This record gives sequence, structure tokens and C-alpha cells, in this order.
Amino acid sequence: MAVYKTVQRKMLLDFLGTHAGQSFTVRQIVAGMNGCGENAPSESTVYRLMRELVDDGTVRKDVDVESRENVYRLECGSDAGVSMRCKICGSVYNVDGESSRRIKEEVSRCGVVPSDDNIELIIKCRKCGKS
Ligand SMILES: [Zn+2]
Repeated sequence: MAVYKTVQRKMLLDFLGTHAGQSFTVRQIVAGMNGCGENAPSESTVYRLMRELVDDGTVRKDVDVESRENVYRLECGSDAGVSMRCKICGSVYNVDGESSRRIKEEVSRCGVVPSDDNIELIIKCRKCGKS
């Protein structure tokens, strides 16, 4: 059961990660993850996971001005813009401002980083690297 939950949490983070900077209601998240097969979380599961993610600071909760619904988006430091995500457990680590700047500089030698897109490095975190 615990493993199952981890999978759904990871899927949720994947979904938010690929739409970094955008906010979603729970309903939009559920709809967006519909294509994820039989493991796709139900609405109540998404609510529960979101509450956990908000609690541990991974996700930010806002209220949409027009619809007055709760919307969620991946939290990222104001000047961060670069994060590392463990491909095993889905943990997200922020890269400090100075390193972010250097990475962006490096990237810009080969191309352009769309201004409001996050750069995400896929890693295997220490915890997962051991196993
Ligand atoms: Zn990990």
C-alpha cells in the first residue's frame, strides 16, 4: 500500500513538474492524469496527497480569484528556476540562486530557456542511490 501511494505521489509531482509555473484545481489535475492508466489517483486521493505536499512545502496552494477554487502549483524559490528531481522517489531539491544562474548561463550557450520555464535536472537522490 505504501508503495502504491508513493507511485501516485510521484505521478502527481511529475504532472505538476511538466507544467511548472501553472496552477491547477484538483479536478484539472485528475482530468490531466486520466491517461496515466489504472494507477491514476482518484479525486479524493489527489486531495489527500495535495494536502501532504502543501504541508511539506513542495506545493503551493492559492485561491483562484475568479472561480474561488483552490489551485495548486509546484513551489519554486523565487530566484531558483532550477531544480533537481529524483527519478525514483520524486523528491524535489532546489538549486541555490548562484548555481541556478550558472546553469542558466551554460544552457544559454546552446539555446534559450523560455523565461517562465523551470529547468529540471533528473537525478537519483542519495537516499535512492544507495539501494
Ligand atoms: Zn530519491
